[in-house]
Amino acid sequence: MDKIPFVDLKAQYLTIKESIDNAITDTIENTSFIGGKPVKKFEADFASLYGVKHCVSCANGTDAIYIALKMLGIGNGDEVITTACSWISTSETITQAGAKPVFVDIEPDFFTIDPARIEEKITDKTKAIIPVHLYGQVAQIEAIKAIAEKYNLFLIEDCAQSHFSAYDGRRAGTFGNASTFSFYPGKNLGAYGDAGCILTNDDNLAEKMRMYANHGALVKHQHKMEGINSRLDGLQAAILSAKLPYILEWTEKRRQVAKWYDEILADIEEVTIPKVRENSLHSFHLYVIRAQGRNALMQHLAQNGIETAIHYPSPLPFLEAYQQYQYSKQELPVSAAYQTEILSLPVYPELTMEQVQYIGEQVKSFYR
Ligand SMILES: *Cc1c(COP(=O)(O)O)cnc(C)c1O
Repeated sequence: MDKIPFVDLKAQYLTIKESIDNAITDTIENTSFIGGKPVKKFEADFASLYGVKHCVSCANGTDAIYIALKMLGIGNGDEVITTACSWISTSETITQAGAKPVFVDIEPDFFTIDPARIEEKITDKTKAIIPVHLYGQVAQIEAIKAIAEKYNLFLIEDCAQSHFSAYDGRRAGTFGNASTFSFYPGKNLGAYGDAGCILTNDDNLAEKMRMYANHGALVKHQHKMEGINSRLDGLQAAILSAKLPYILEWTEKRRQVAKWYDEILADIEEVTIPKVRENSLHSFHLYVIRAQGRNALMQHLAQNGIETAIHYPSPLPFLEAYQQYQYSKQELPVSAAYQTEILSLPVYPELTMEQVQYIGEQVKSFYR
């Protein structure tokens, strides 16, 4: 068996080479480098796929969160509640906006923020909640939304890992005041560089975010405020549009790969396979198992040509960056326990059943 990389972006490119190459050539020939038709087209297509009124594109998924926070008016003295387990973008943007991130433990089994632990963290400074649909699993969004409504808090969904996940027949990213997406190359819908967007049904918020991402101006030289430079470029937009016709099929294939893993790994006592929330669709950005002897298993797989990864080696509050808040393991018991057990196995639409079987057998052989 050839080596199995953790991600294989080339394999996907080869399946749609012609349409990608055409999209790039057209954009260059039309010199639509910044703004222009490709960006407008992608925004319209993505919004319509989600059935949402506005898609505001921006430079990356980190900026998307920052722009949403700023334009919802969150800043100095405010607190924003988020999950202990995510990529640092979710919390660093809270700090960048001037507010303080307040971390909540994850639910056992699902790796997403535990709604039962949110209310105890709400103070009169709390302004928003940012749940993350981590790995592609939808957070317990109805319960979180109910809390946000009860306390009059904004709800921003971090959808960087959950393109086309759904709960109760409704797409993740359509529940909150705004939802943020990353199109980093390795994400389920990936550009060939950095890219991101924010979805919202709020006309006023959409206009403000669009303005802020473009130096505070909707019309050239008419700066209604100061903003930032966070634009989606034409090449990335054209590449994303070329990929959109395939995204639902690719997402299905990820679910298929996950099913193959589930079947092969189900009877290994030392391994816990990912549980999918009832009444939901997981998009399997990552297939994360909990494994006894995780580090040794990872090494065993590497020796057998299988690349794996850990998302993430440390919960956010335990990073040096958040030392000042002094979170203890007792305070975040689930996150603390999982950090030594989680292992991400390769998952992408192009992965074959034979490859998944091989990976499954290598996991089995480690424990035998
Ligand atoms: C990737 C990611 C981001 C940030 O996206 P970039 O496009 O890399 O800035 C934010 N949140 C989560 C959960 C992510 O996985």
